[in-house]
Amino acid sequence: MKNAKIRLFVDQPLSEGQTVLLTKEQSHYLFSVMRLSTDGLVTLFNSQDGEFQAAVETAHKKSGTLKCTHKTRDIQMPPDLWLMFAPIKKTRTDFIVEKAAEMGARKILPIGTDYTNSERIRQDRLQAHALEAAEQCGGTFVPDVTDLQKLDNLLSTWDQERQIMFCDETLVGAAQTLQKASGEKWAILIGPEGGFSDRERAILHAMPYAHAVALGPRILRADTAAVAALTLWQQHLGDWP
Ligand code: SAH
Repeated sequence: MKNAKIRLFVDQPLSEGQTVLLTKEQSHYLFSVMRLSTDGLVTLFNSQDGEFQAAVETAHKKSGTLKCTHKTRDIQMPPDLWLMFAPIKKTRTDFIVEKAAEMGARKILPIGTDYTNSERIRQDRLQAHALEAAEQCGGTFVPDVTDLQKLDNLLSTWDQERQIMFCDETLVGAAQTLQKASGEKWAILIGPEGGFSDRERAILHAMPYAHAVALGPRILRADTAAVAALTLWQQHLGDWP
């Protein structure tokens, strides 16, 4: 049987035989951009039920339906890992969200810190980036991107069961690693271009569930640091091994 090349996230339940109603945007994409017609195949996932192959039942410019034929994969949840980062320039922030979705984060949290460059984000745009990344990398789950929130607020109501991989640029070159770390609920914390303030660093170093980590002997840009930290964490505690 032919395999579907196009992957699509749908915000609807999926099961064998299920009919899926397409949105205007999805219909435009499938039938006008990708030129799919009746019986064309699409791979669907919804962050809940796994991945299904579906065939086009009806195809119009602004609407259409698909019918799920069979399940192709069970859902593969990423580890319970959050990525907290301070937004930087637009394209680099987009990059961080896209990479976090590809690398396997369960939740993405833009945070405001003392030196955060950008005070506003477009949550809807960032969420769309995460979704597109999941569609392209074969994921069966789309991480939620939250609205910008203050690091202080987040830390003051912190779930003590969730450990923090605190990437502290002042430790550059130090032998501070995740070597002795364990546990399943984690959050990576990456600072802005200006780094963390002394005040924030003091708070984090005093938290028993925060582990200060160095990312090698050079100072990395925040977007590079996010990918490096995700790699390290996945290798040590995540679903890579
Ligand atoms: N302006 C700062 C660097 C900020 S880099 C300075 O010159 O010191 C942006 C973020 O990336 C940092 O806040 C930190 O979270 C992370 N980062 C970059 N390089 C790092 C390193 N070698 N070790 C740990 N964290 C690092």
